[in-house]
Order: sequence, then structure tokens, then C-alpha cells
Amino acid sequence: MAATDTSIRSSCHCGAITVTVPRLPKFINVCQCTICRRYGAAWGYYPQNEVKIETKPNAVTKQYIWGDRDLSFNFCDNCGCVCYWWPIRPPSTDERKKNIMGINTNNVNPELLRFVDRKFGYSLLISPLRSKDTAHPEDLAKY
Ligand SMILES: [Zn+2]
Repeated sequence: MAATDTSIRSSCHCGAITVTVPRLPKFINVCQCTICRRYGAAWGYYPQNEVKIETKPNAVTKQYIWGDRDLSFNFCDNCGCVCYWWPIRPPSTDERKKNIMGINTNNVNPELLRFVDRKFGYSLLISPLRSKDTAHPEDLAKY
């Protein structure tokens, strides 16, 4: 690896799914929404076009989609690790979310992440979904 290569590689436990990004995340979001806290996921966010996802032959990526169905959570069918989320709707109208995806930084060598800020994000817990019917009962959003 060249000295100038700042890329970061994440891998599920069995190594079937790897996700490579060009640099450390600006921060890590330990999201406390109803699904992410159950996963124990710690997200780093990247433009989709900067992310390289590789799966070994015969590896199976499973998906979980809920709520507004804006994105899919993608995990390894073999070892169960949550690897990344990916938008499944056309580009978001929200500029902050446009063309963004998230990698689970818990699949990255923790030594590399020692000095990256961690935020415990509760904002998604109080963000109303488009349809209350699809909300988790523990969501705190006001409708
Ligand atoms: Zn795996």
C-alpha cells in the first residue's frame, strides 16, 4: 500500500463482504434510532460514488427495509454482520442526504478510528416518517 493511500477497508466477520472508502469518516454516528441501536451500528457517511463494495463468490447479501422504505440495511447472510445502508429511492430531496450512504465502521480496524469523533445521534428517533403506520412503536416522533 502506498504511503499516500488513505483508503479504509471494512469487512464482515467472515470476510464475504468488504466495503472500501477513500478516507476516514468526518465523524462516526452511533445512531440511536429504533433499528440502528439494535444493530449496534456506528455509521460513517460517504458519497455513493466513492464507495467500493465487493462480495466473494457465493456470498449472499441480505437486506432489511422498513419504515419509509428510503434505504436498505445490508448484512452478510453467513456471519450476520451489518455492513452498510444504501438508499433505495430516487435521490433524496434533502440536500444533506443526497447520494449519501453509510458504512458500519464497527467493521473497520478500530485502531484506525481512534481519533474520529463519535456522536450519539438521537435525531432519527424524533424525525416523523412519511407514514405513521410504518413507524416503530418506540419512535418518539410527534405526528
Ligand atoms: Zn460475513
